Amino acid sequence: MEPVWKKSACILCESNCGIEIRVEGREFARIRGNKAHVESKGYTCEKALRLNHYQNSRGRLTSPMRRREDGTHEPIDWDTAIAEVAAGLARVRDEHGGAAIFRYGGGGQGNHLHGTYGQALADGLGVRYRSNAIAQEKTGEAWVEGSMFGNHTRPEFDQAEVAIFVGKNPWQSHGFPHARTTLKAIANDPERSMVVLDPKRTKSAELADIHLQLRPGTDAFCLAAILAIMVRDGHVNAEFVDRHVDDASTLFAVLADIPIDDYAERCDIAVTDLEAVASRIGRAESVATFEDLGIEQAPNSTLVSYLQRLLFVLHGSFAKPGGNHPHSWFSRRGSRLRPTPEQKYSPVTGARVLAGLIPCNSIPDEILTDHPDRFRAMIIESSNPVHSLASAPKFREAMQALDFSVVIDVAMTETARQATIVLPASSQYEKCEASFFNFHFPDNAFYLRKAVVDPLPGTMAEPEMHVRIAEALGLYDDGELQPLRDAAEAGRADFAEAYAAHMAAHPEHEPLAALILYRTLGPTLPEGLQGAAILWEMAHKIADLHPEQVARAGITANEGQLLGDAIFDAVLDSDDGVIFTRHEYDEAWDLAVTQDRRLRVNNTRMLDKLRDLGDQPTTYTSDEFPYVLAAGERRSFTANVIIRDPDWRKTDPQGALEISEADAAERGLVDGDRVRIVTPGGSAETVVAVVDTMRSGHIALPNGMGVEHPDEHGEHRIVGVSPNELTTLDWKDDFAGTPWHKHVPARLEPIGADA
Ligand code: SF4
Repeated sequence: MEPVWKKSACILCESNCGIEIRVEGREFARIRGNKAHVESKGYTCEKALRLNHYQNSRGRLTSPMRRREDGTHEPIDWDTAIAEVAAGLARVRDEHGGAAIFRYGGGGQGNHLHGTYGQALADGLGVRYRSNAIAQEKTGEAWVEGSMFGNHTRPEFDQAEVAIFVGKNPWQSHGFPHARTTLKAIANDPERSMVVLDPKRTKSAELADIHLQLRPGTDAFCLAAILAIMVRDGHVNAEFVDRHVDDASTLFAVLADIPIDDYAERCDIAVTDLEAVASRIGRAESVATFEDLGIEQAPNSTLVSYLQRLLFVLHGSFAKPGGNHPHSWFSRRGSRLRPTPEQKYSPVTGARVLAGLIPCNSIPDEILTDHPDRFRAMIIESSNPVHSLASAPKFREAMQALDFSVVIDVAMTETARQATIVLPASSQYEKCEASFFNFHFPDNAFYLRKAVVDPLPGTMAEPEMHVRIAEALGLYDDGELQPLRDAAEAGRADFAEAYAAHMAAHPEHEPLAALILYRTLGPTLPEGLQGAAILWEMAHKIADLHPEQVARAGITANEGQLLGDAIFDAVLDSDDGVIFTRHEYDEAWDLAVTQDRRLRVNNTRMLDKLRDLGDQPTTYTSDEFPYVLAAGERRSFTANVIIRDPDWRKTDPQGALEISEADAAERGLVDGDRVRIVTPGGSAETVVAVVDTMRSGHIALPNGMGVEHPDEHGEHRIVGVSPNELTTLDWKDDFAGTPWHKHVPARLEPIGADA
């Protein structure tokens, strides 16, 4: 008999490559790339092939759990669990207001669809504050993008003549479709160039034409010097700047004062190398740039986000092939970044709220206080903040101080162990799901993947949980939904009319739209796709905003059909993803915020920071902590903590601490030795790997290690170091509050020495 292959997507990074899975019983016997997938076209890296370790992990939860007095958990039935979650949340809301309930997470790398139902529940409860892992990475970047372009932008490396990566190693962290193929294509093309700024000689850096192996944490100095050289030596596209940049005069004046030689010395790069980069940009037809955690979790991160974008802006690589562009969105937000949220600062510490998110490092201090506005309850979904946020001990303490908490996850994670109630979710291959990381231009695509196996008995898909909790809370009167159900049975056109009338009559239901669509439109959708109901509303938003681009993508409505329904049907029907918008390059301007086709570089806050950069330290090490630790490096077999089974790693099973040959020789260390690493936040024992890719003084631990997982005897074991046992809450960007996980001062001690 021919083996059965089922289509889905990899969930281990934001690329969400299309895959085919050969399912035998409940086992994923083999996995291969899906050549028909609209974006990835058959591409995968090695990680996708090991997804059976996620799907059939021994750590899967199969029952809701309730915390006992002694801190352990006991299984309870679903009706009890839903009732107790509703009662716990209602108690906090009624006594202290919805703002006392804090929402964290809502989706991992590939399960964003069901987070929309969780957000609707939170909105119905009056929750005002939320956060997720983006607030420890990309909120500074989001603020910069909003101020410069009014929208999120993405590079088009397929087309770029010069590709620049700043604190980014796409070979391991990907971040754009078929990353390795693209890197190799650039490396093999003598007409194109790759520039990498990274203190480590990563695989991407090895492929680069120019690798600036700078001192850790000095990217701002390096970029400022390159920009100053571009201005000094005439490598700026003066015509583009004149036509399309809003008041660059202050920027140019600040850049003219940059002490290039001094900054080159600070970042330990020869001025001639910086001049080579500036000159290569100046000669290029197109330039695309990309940043990642290497700089987003390091000193001057928001300033670096601003400076690296100036490279392509001053080059004029916007709204043309091979540049950086804004894009459409398949989401409730429409086509641009959300307007400034009502809540600009967190209620206790006054931390700046960016992109609607409270900085992750501030969360424990919003709880561990007697402030009347402190958070007293948490809803945590598909996230493991006790493991993934700075200072795990502090986050554990904060969760213990809450009046109530509910965690939704597939496994008994480090965070679930602190929760009042744990709700076991069906895995990402047991329900329909999707990623909203659809960030592409000129073609943008969306992929709704379907269940590959039945839900593990005892688990539930998140939309059903959220709807049941909302109904237990009485957030809406089910009887009021009957006309919508009747209309949905009659057909989509009737439903569209009834839905518009319902929302006009019940504006209080607007925040609950996902839940209402699930209960009314959902039952009329094909088997297993009830959870896709919220996409109907999003499809209509796309149709309203981009009708021409939808038609250009090949989606047209039949007679009597609305365009939004045509998009929705295309998404439901496809097993390989759908291109939902196709823009012309010049239309990038329509996706940016400015109506006058001008990009904004005159950012007072960033220009002040650039002016004062010379006063900032070059190094943050000391005699006590002489090393810079990158706490949480992405490697071949790390993927946050989505896969908890340590046996999934084919290489680097212990998650070794990488150290340079020079530093190892000085300390008498060889491969496989064990040392204690000590930081201001804690200490841990680790195995050592001596490498020739690190700078002296720079050491690195991988991400995703140090999680509990049962072995074949049911005994829990922990492999490797959990990086956030070593980090602290106060080590962060002074503007965005993003942590400096990639720049933690540290020392090494022989095993046995006092910590
Ligand atoms: S880890 Fe990322 S690049 Fe690798 S297969 Fe999965 S989605 Fe694709």
